[in-house]
Amino acid sequence: MHGGKVAVVGGSIAGCAAALAAHRGGAAEVTVYERAAEDLAERGVGLGMRNAHYAELADAGYMDAGMPWLQLSRRRWYTRDGAAPFGRLVGELALPFRTYNWGPLWRALRDRMPATTAFHGGSAVRTAETSADGAAVRLDDGTTHHADLVVGADGYRSVVRGAAFPDVQPAYAGYLAWRGAFPAERLAALDGIAPGGRWPADDAVFAVFPGGHAVIYRIPGEASGHRVNWALYTVPPQGADLALDTPTSLPPGSLDDILHAHFAQITGDLLPPYWGELARLTLPGELFIQPMYDFTAPRYAAGRVLLAGDAATVARPHTGSGAVKALQDATALEAACTAAGSWADVPAAYDAARGAAGRSMMELGRRLGDALVLRSPDWRTVRQADLDALWAGTNAGAFGGRTPDAGKTPPGGRR
Ligand SMILES: Cc1cc2nc3c(=O)[nH]c(=O)nc-3n(C[C@H](O)[C@H](O)[C@H](O)COP(=O)(O)OP(=O)(O)OC[C@H]3O[C@@H](n4cnc5c(N)ncnc54)[C@H](O)[C@@H]3O)c2cc1C
Repeated sequence: MHGGKVAVVGGSIAGCAAALAAHRGGAAEVTVYERAAEDLAERGVGLGMRNAHYAELADAGYMDAGMPWLQLSRRRWYTRDGAAPFGRLVGELALPFRTYNWGPLWRALRDRMPATTAFHGGSAVRTAETSADGAAVRLDDGTTHHADLVVGADGYRSVVRGAAFPDVQPAYAGYLAWRGAFPAERLAALDGIAPGGRWPADDAVFAVFPGGHAVIYRIPGEASGHRVNWALYTVPPQGADLALDTPTSLPPGSLDDILHAHFAQITGDLLPPYWGELARLTLPGELFIQPMYDFTAPRYAAGRVLLAGDAATVARPHTGSGAVKALQDATALEAACTAAGSWADVPAAYDAARGAAGRSMMELGRRLGDALVLRSPDWRTVRQADLDALWAGTNAGAFGGRTPDAGKTPPGGRR
């Protein structure tokens, strides 16, 4: 299939990858409409990617070794044990994952887009519509742009999904993620708590407590060095004024006194001292909250409108799969375009390749959220064998993302 136009709404991870996929799939004109006028690389913290998915995505041409990363090998689980700096080691599980800094990863994906792709920053799409022979996007500035396909890669509050599936709404999961990242040099302030006790660079830490846990790992710095990236999951405090029925997030600098006090209480009383102090090294301008939501669209395509990344499915971050899922959507889009005889054939093939993956990742996120936050065990009694059983009980084989279904040949024909 050669020629034709593809419009991509959203220029983040899913959007940049979808634009590359459409180009490789034969589109002559690819246009990305991104609402943000500023450089997205200035925002973002860390993410993880299973080694096997890195290899799969590198093989497909969407990742490469030049994108800065750090290697993890295991997850060590700690719980508070009096004044023991790191707490009691509950157990450990393998973690063959790479970590990435979101900003440089996005920048590298953006740079992979061919020069012929038009990337319009500051272009908010108001709606999208499909017709018998194509699709169109209408922008906030009143202009309408027609294409053979429209890909909605506009995140969890997607207007493209809203147009295609107006009844689908992200569902609040009942708890929040506090998040932050800061330069690793700042850890020197903790040397008094655990002299010489910086944790190994290839460990991710799960600091667990009744009703939640914190995940802590290092990521590459923007230009050099490392950053410490963490996320702490637990229910919001009583009295917090949060309108969570409408999907939202609380950016740095927007947390009120009740939320700050709750954060201080959890990190001071519930986490082991070292990990609690570590989270408190985060400056107010680096601390933000993502309420947990999830959903999946009933289909990944409606007419000539396709959904990708978080616009299609949000799985809770416990799954460690957000970026992988978005990039796998792109490889499936490329495969669908490459195999299709016409643009009209692409949507059904793409939906068939990705629908089940989205649903299963959302369900895995729910199981992990239940096991680790909403119905967490009494960690004081948990030992390695219990941890193994707890993890096995969540059926978390797809932790880090699903492997594309056997039998579907990825771009490049390699498996
Ligand atoms: C700036 C930024 C930083 C992030 N940092 C991290 C991180 O550190 N760690 C992590 O795990 N995840 C992060 N995420 C989320 C992560 O990118 C996603 O969960 C996942 O990778 C899937 O990405 P996505 O492209 O589907 O969605 P998103 O990354 O949410 O991107 C959606 C894009 O669509 C744009 N958009 C939304 N509505 C419209 C509209 N109407 N018209 C045009 N454009 C629109 C948004 O501005 C955004 O760029 C970040 C997202 C953004 C936007």
